[in-house]
Amino acid sequence: MRYKKQITIVAVLLIVTAGLILTRPDRYKTIDSGYRPVMGTMAHITVVTEDSHTAKKAFAAAFGEIARIEQLMSKYRSDSELYRLNNSPAGEPVEISPELFALIELAGEFYELTGGAFDITIGPVADLWQQAGSTGIKPAPEQIKAAKTKTGFDKLILNENNTTVTFAVEGMKLDLGGIAKGCAIDNAVRVLKESGIVGGLVDIGGDIRCFGEKPGNSDYWRIGLQNPRETGQIVLKLALDETSVATSGDYQRFVYIDGQKHSHIIDPRKADSAQGLSSVSVITARAARADALATAVTVMGTEKGLILINKLENTEAVIIESNNDDLILSENAEQYIIRLIKKYSCRGFAVNNPE
Ligand code: AMP
Ligand code: MG
Repeated sequence: MRYKKQITIVAVLLIVTAGLILTRPDRYKTIDSGYRPVMGTMAHITVVTEDSHTAKKAFAAAFGEIARIEQLMSKYRSDSELYRLNNSPAGEPVEISPELFALIELAGEFYELTGGAFDITIGPVADLWQQAGSTGIKPAPEQIKAAKTKTGFDKLILNENNTTVTFAVEGMKLDLGGIAKGCAIDNAVRVLKESGIVGGLVDIGGDIRCFGEKPGNSDYWRIGLQNPRETGQIVLKLALDETSVATSGDYQRFVYIDGQKHSHIIDPRKADSAQGLSSVSVITARAARADALATAVTVMGTEKGLILINKLENTEAVIIESNNDDLILSENAEQYIIRLIKKYSCRGFAVNNPE
C-alpha cells in the first residue's frame, strides 16, 4: 500500500513537471540588449522574460546602474568619487559614500586572502607602466622605487566610523579596475531582478553573471572561454547556473616594451607586470569576487593561485599558462565544462592544501 501511494505521488510529480516544461517555451522570450560601450569595454545583457516591454525597461535600469558604478569608481573621470579621493592630501580623513567604502573593504579582504597579490593601492605603479606603454620607455628604477613607497593596502586607513578613509602617504592612488566590472555586474543583476526579469546574463568585457530561467529549454547558460592565443576562438564551453565567471590575463590589454610583453596586471611585490599566465578564469557566485580572484591568481601564478582557489568554497578556476597549451583546472572545475575544443588537453592539478 505504502509503495502504491509513493508511486502515485511520483507519477503526479512527473506529470506536473512535464506540464511545466511543456508550457515554458511559450511563456518566455529571450531578448538581448546588443553590445554597448561601458567601463572602457563592451557589455551586453540577455534576459529571459514574458514580454519585451519589461525587457526594455530592465535594460535601461541595468545599464543605468552600470553607468552609475562607473561614475563612482572610475580613476579617469575627473567627476568620479574615486578621482576626488585619489587627489586628496595624505593624513586627512576623506569622506566617501558607504558604497565606495564597502567596495574598498571588500578589496581589503582580497588583499588579506591573496597575501597582497590583489592590491587596489597599486595606482602609482599602474600609472607608471601605463605611461611606459605610451612612450615605449621602461620606468627608471628610482621611479619604480618611489611609486612603491606609495603602494600597499596597509597604508590605507579605513576609519572606524565606516565613512572616511585616510591615505598614510602622499601621492597614494586607488585603482579599482580589478574589481569594478564585477561589482557593476552584481548590481546590474540585482536591478534586473527588481525589474521583474526571471532569468538573465550580464556580460561586461567577458566577465559574466547568470541567474534564473535559461534561454529556451536549456538547463544551463552556455559560456565560451576565449582562446588567449587566437582571437575569436574559444577553448572550452562552460555550463553555468546561478554563478559568475571572470577572466583575467595577459592577452586582453598589454604593451611591448623593449621586446617584453607587459600586461595591465601588476605584481605589487615586483612593481612590474605579472608574468606567466595567459588566461585565468574564476567561477564563483558573486561577480565581484570572481573578478578580484581572477586578477589575483594572474599575479600569484598557477601553484599559489590553485592552493587559494581549492581552499575557497564553491570557487573554481581554469588557467592557461603563457608557455603551455594545457588547461589547468582547480579541484572541482570539471563539473562546469561541457565541451573541450581543439588541441587543449586537460591536466588535473593535484595541489595539497598545506593547512
Ligand atoms: P582585470 O581585467 O579584472 O584583471 O583587472 C585588471 C585591472 O586591475 C588593471 O587594469 C588595473 O586597473 C587593476 N590591477 C592591476 N593589477 C592589480 C593588482 N595586483 N591588484 C588589484 N588590481 C590590479
Ligand atoms: Mg579582475
